[in-house]
Amino acid sequence: MKLTELFAKDTRNLSFEVFPNKKPENLESVKGKTARIAELKPAFMSVTYGAGGGTSQFTLEIAKNIEQNCNVPVLAHLTGISSTKEIVAQRIEELKAAGIQNVMALRGDLTPEMEGKDRTNWPYKHAIDLIRELKEKGDFCIGSGCYPEVHPEAANMIEDIRHLKEKVDAGCDFLTTQLFYDNDIFYSFLYKIREAGISVPLIPGIMPVTNTKHMERSIQMSGCYIPKYFKAMMERFGNNDAAMKQAGIAYATEQIIELYANGIRTVHVYSMNNPDVAEKIMN
Ligand code: FAD
Repeated sequence: MKLTELFAKDTRNLSFEVFPNKKPENLESVKGKTARIAELKPAFMSVTYGAGGGTSQFTLEIAKNIEQNCNVPVLAHLTGISSTKEIVAQRIEELKAAGIQNVMALRGDLTPEMEGKDRTNWPYKHAIDLIRELKEKGDFCIGSGCYPEVHPEAANMIEDIRHLKEKVDAGCDFLTTQLFYDNDIFYSFLYKIREAGISVPLIPGIMPVTNTKHMERSIQMSGCYIPKYFKAMMERFGNNDAAMKQAGIAYATEQIIELYANGIRTVHVYSMNNPDVAEKIMN
């Protein structure tokens, strides 16, 4: 099923994200965890793709298993950075052969070695290059990423939204946000993109915080705003893993309920291969 069909329905939807194993010997374990998440019958599941390409064959393998054996629609991620035209062409053919209809087209994060390098001859400088190619070579429902608190490389929000509009005009069917911990930031971004003429579905991405170390890393990478209530929660429960996990699940669930209450129909959860967290949120 194409996700655009799901987004058109007047239903409340929850989706979960998983990531592929790095080592081949961990494939079965990740497949097991993703199958347990699939048993919760989310509206769809997404599988990330390592920008360096090292885990790319596992993305397809895991996505195929979810789609074909777990009967849950899947969204396979694909990144362009550090990829060649040949690899991307091969991935597109593999996705088609596996019957995967939904693809998340991303640029991928710059690795420290890529910073400051001349990018003139890179075949995929931005996500839009991948969106155009997917559009040309297949009949996919295409998603892409967006940043309610501005992408760290963008000069400002206006420029970032201008590039976002270009991605949508090139054929992107929906957008999923970077994580955020303050729903007002999401609503403000929603108004701004609608004003800029972007009318595709905007799916909020919610990250349940289940331990402090993981939290610190994700804040550092995304640069997102941390509300006072959230800070207090981390200070109070940060040294107690079990308590922090419960509090993080409760906070994410509250964010989701508030989004639903304000008319948002689909919420995407960065569930990080954690069936236990996914199950508690789903319940
Ligand atoms: P782009 O859309 O290319 O934007 C990157 C920057 O370039 C922005 O500042 C933008 O304003 C600017 N820009 C865009 N187009 C142009 C243009 N035509 N000319 C000049 N500037 C431009 N990473 C992974 O490696 N694997 C994943 O599976 C993955 N999944 C993700 C899922 C979501 C929902 C999100 C939000 C991010 C995900 N990422 C993933 C991280 C993502 O790859 C990084 O955030 C990356 O830095 C930017 O990717 P992008 O696709 O948004 O890039």
